[in-house]
Amino acid sequence: MLSIPHSLTGAFLASQIPHPAFYIPAAVSAHYLEDWIPHWDFGTGLSTGKRSVKTALFFEVLELVATFGLLYWFFQAGHAQIQWHIWLGALAGILPDLLDAPKNFLKLDLPFLRPLTDLHHFFHHSTHHVFFGLIPQILVVIAVYLLK
Ligand SMILES: [Zn+2]
Repeated sequence: MLSIPHSLTGAFLASQIPHPAFYIPAAVSAHYLEDWIPHWDFGTGLSTGKRSVKTALFFEVLELVATFGLLYWFFQAGHAQIQWHIWLGALAGILPDLLDAPKNFLKLDLPFLRPLTDLHHFFHHSTHHVFFGLIPQILVVIAVYLLK
């Protein structure tokens, strides 16, 4: 999925679960479960060559900016103190994608990351259908917004 639903899920879990020893693994686990749902993201088509690395990277950076804005709006706005647990939960929520980034964007297959990237790929189900691939992600964002 996109970074937006993954990070919002991680942030939401961090807002509900009181200790990082619990919300970090929960956020990482939620990432795998969300990726199990067939989805579309900016990396869809990278492995088949239908999308260039440059294009995917460009949109990923834009999406990270949007992710930051939504995280701020949903969880940080109105708080005088930085909500570190929220940002840590959000980071944990996108961790599997961050660990996959060297392989996806730099074609760097780091052996020590292979068990984690293999696990990520095991759970990952993409669709090239943008509309149906975005629907579950929009639902996640709405659910987080309503439940936060
Ligand atoms: Zn992922």
